[in-house]
Amino acid sequence: MTAPLDCFFVEREDLIERYVAGDAAKASLSQEQLAAFEEHYFGCPVCFEKLQAARAAREAMLTVGASSRRTAWIGWAAAAMVVVTSASAWYLLRPAGAPASHVTAKRPPATVPLELAKIDPPRYDAVELRGSESPADARFRGAMKAYTAARYQDAAAQLSAISSHAPSQFFAAASQLMAGNTDAAIAALQAVPPESPFAEESKWLLAKAWLGRNEPDKAKPILDALSAGGGDFAAAAARLREQLKQWEAGR
Ligand SMILES: [Zn+2]
Repeated sequence: MTAPLDCFFVEREDLIERYVAGDAAKASLSQEQLAAFEEHYFGCPVCFEKLQAARAAREAMLTVGASSRRTAWIGWAAAAMVVVTSASAWYLLRPAGAPASHVTAKRPPATVPLELAKIDPPRYDAVELRGSESPADARFRGAMKAYTAARYQDAAAQLSAISSHAPSQFFAAASQLMAGNTDAAIAALQAVPPESPFAEESKWLLAKAWLGRNEPDKAKPILDALSAGGGDFAAAAARLREQLKQWEAGR
């Protein structure tokens, strides 16, 4: 079974670049990632367009046969990304076999800039527990090995099976987010109760998840509340809120 990807994940993981960059880069993608990506771009005009542009750029680069291939590739790719920004250009690049639904697909409204939606995995420091460790603590510690190894899909599955354990609940949600399962992450983050020691960080991730979903109007009230709350994430929330304002003003 493959997890559904979203555009944010595609961009964050450089999936398009890795997909077209040749066998070595493609081999760094698992079969599961490849299948999920292919499923995504066939249904997503935005990623489909970028993929076509990246392919065209790569072909152009190979034709030129530049001595410094990597440099040339980056240059061509950047140029192509800039040029192919309209739906009509996408239409022209679309292969004859593309499903009809792509032809009528409309470009979505302006997308929240990637740097505003970007997420760093929440920090986990394995703390030496003194005294007795509960069975849930022990399972949590085991599951967090997957988390620290960036095996987020695995971590999410293990952590969400540990019930009534606040750290597991939070890191399960964070793992979903890092794995690109944004909808599942949003649901899990919304379920973190206000009395959880992770309540504030959950709100922060929730705001980020909404930005990744291109729903800034849902992120804004969360950021405002965090900013007014004066906690650990107040300053970061205020800064992000300001960046959102500037982006909206310049749109
Ligand atoms: Zn996409």
